[in-house]
Amino acid sequence: MTPADGGAGGMGRRALVLFSGGLDSMLAAELLRRCGVEVTALTFVTPFFGSSNAERAAGALGLELVVADITERHLEVLKNPRYGYGKNMNPCIDCHALMARVALERLGELRADFIATGEVLGERPKSQNRQALELVARHSGAGDLLLRPLSARLLPETRPEREGWVRRDKLLDLSGRSRRRQMELAEEWGIGEYESPAGGCLLTDAGFSARLRELMLRVPGFDGADAELLKVGRHAWTGSTLIVLGRRHAENQHLVELALPGDMLLKERDNPGPTALLRAFPRGASPNRREIGEAARLLGIYGKQKKPLKPQDLVEVPRGDWPHCTT
Ligand code: SF4
Repeated sequence: MTPADGGAGGMGRRALVLFSGGLDSMLAAELLRRCGVEVTALTFVTPFFGSSNAERAAGALGLELVVADITERHLEVLKNPRYGYGKNMNPCIDCHALMARVALERLGELRADFIATGEVLGERPKSQNRQALELVARHSGAGDLLLRPLSARLLPETRPEREGWVRRDKLLDLSGRSRRRQMELAEEWGIGEYESPAGGCLLTDAGFSARLRELMLRVPGFDGADAELLKVGRHAWTGSTLIVLGRRHAENQHLVELALPGDMLLKERDNPGPTALLRAFPRGASPNRREIGEAARLLGIYGKQKKPLKPQDLVEVPRGDWPHCTT
C-alpha cells in the first residue's frame, strides 16, 4: 500500500512518532509511512531508559530519529505522578503524557503536523485502556493531534483523519494483549528484529524500584545523578549516607566516573577489592566517622578477606583513576 496505489492520504504531511524502538512503535511508524505520511521518530532519554533500542530500530527502518533528554521533567513526574504508578515505580500514564507534551512543543521546530504513538487499546490494562488514552491526549495538551494508528479505528476520530492527512480506513483496529497481529504485520512488512514490550525501562523492574523507593523516601529532592547511582553495585544506607560498592572491576571504574565533588571513594589499602562510593545527603555534607566505619565493614566483608575492616585499613581512590582490582 503506497499513496500511489492506495490513495491512503498523506498529502506531504509529517508525523512525529513517539518511538521506543519496540515493535508497536515500529509498526506505527511504518503504517503511517505506508499511508504516505513522512515520519520523524522521537525518542527520549532519562536515567531509567535510553535511546539504544530506538537507534537500532530507526536504523533498521531508515527513519530520521530525534533524541530528547527529558531527565528533569521526567523526575518531576516520577516524584509526583498525577495518575499514580503501575505495578512498580513506573508512572506510565504521566510518562506518556509528558512525552506527548514534549512532542507537541517540538512539532513546529521539526516541521511535523501531528503526533503518533504505537499505543494499542487494551494492550496494557492500566496504561492503555480507553480512559488512559484519553487522559494522555488531554493531559499532554496534544488533544486530537494525537493519533494511535494501530488502534485508530476503535478510537474517536482525530484531526489528522478529519483533515484527510491520513485516511482512517487505512489505519488499524488492533486491541488487546495478544500480539499475534503485530507479529504477522512485522513479518508481512519485513520487520525482522524488534525488542520485547517495555524492554529497557528500569522503572518496571521490581529490584530497581525498591532502590528508587528508598531513595525517594530518604532524599525527596534527589536528582538525575543520584538516580544514576541506583543502577550500579551493592547498596546500603547508613544515616543519611548512601554507600555503593562495586561488584566487579567495571563497576568500580564506573563508580569513579559517577563520583561528584563531595563524594568519598574508598578501597582497602593493601589488597585489591571493591571500591565504595559514599554520598552524604544533603549534598555537600560529609560522611561521618560512623558512616565511614560502616563502609569499612562492608568493604571487608565483600573483599578478599571476607571479614570487616576498620577505617584505618582504607585509602581514598584518586579521581579520574581507578584502583587495580581483581573482583
Ligand atoms: S514503561 Fe517506563 S518509559 Fe514506558 S511509559 Fe512506563 S514509565 Fe514511561
